[in-house]
Amino acid sequence: MSELFSYSKINTFKNCRELYHINYIQGIRKKNENIEAYLGTCVHTVIENIYNEANQNINFDDMVNMYQDIWNEKWHDNVFLIDKTKKVHQYYNLGIECLRNFFRKNIQDKPHFFSNVIDSELEVEFSIEGISFRGIIDRLDFNPDLNRYTINDYKTSKRIITSKKAQKDLQLGLYLVAIHEKFNITESVNLRWYFLRYGVDVMVTSGIDDLEYIKKTLVKRAKNIIELSKDNESFYANETILCNWCHYWEECSAKTTTNPAKRILK
Ligand code: SF4
Repeated sequence: MSELFSYSKINTFKNCRELYHINYIQGIRKKNENIEAYLGTCVHTVIENIYNEANQNINFDDMVNMYQDIWNEKWHDNVFLIDKTKKVHQYYNLGIECLRNFFRKNIQDKPHFFSNVIDSELEVEFSIEGISFRGIIDRLDFNPDLNRYTINDYKTSKRIITSKKAQKDLQLGLYLVAIHEKFNITESVNLRWYFLRYGVDVMVTSGIDDLEYIKKTLVKRAKNIIELSKDNESFYANETILCNWCHYWEECSAKTTTNPAKRILK
């Protein structure tokens, strides 16, 4: 079977090849998780549950209760705080803000909010030129009136994507290719990002030109990784601000200490 490429695998190689080597070649994976990622997982899980349950009477209090339960159930001993000027409860409350924004925009006064949903957390896989790609789509909708699919992605992070960058984005682009393959369609597809912290959505429509660009870029990136992986010299450390969120300082040749992030004790 050919090697599988995900967006995060391609992105890790782009950001730091040493981290790529640690994660994908040495296969070292830690359970460590940053609090930002933790709150993102909890918010994603609440939204996924809401669409799975398709409960048209859901209210905001129900969502908060669900979030609280998930936050407590999923908690583990390897959640870390990077920014020590912040407190855990601020992150917890940020998750509630994200859900409030989502509720107001997508659920409140919309009893049929789930009617066009095909699936949540949809796993997709496809191959181009013998290279396999895979991804998980947060939510896929289909509007029969417009005969159009929409790929939805929830973000709890700070940075909002511009429409220009959205059109060429590789993460949702990978899902775009997958949907074209899976449903054998030629029509345009909407790509929609929910920036939950701000209640801002960015949506672009991707046509055949965008699809071809994404396919070429994915294949080029994957082939480049395969080629460079033949030489151990390719995997050098790239120290950037992202190192603060990296839990592999002990394995990294550029670091002499462990990551100063604080383990959160409950
Ligand atoms: S600490 Fe920085 S340079 Fe080292 S592996 Fe992690 S991201 Fe790469």
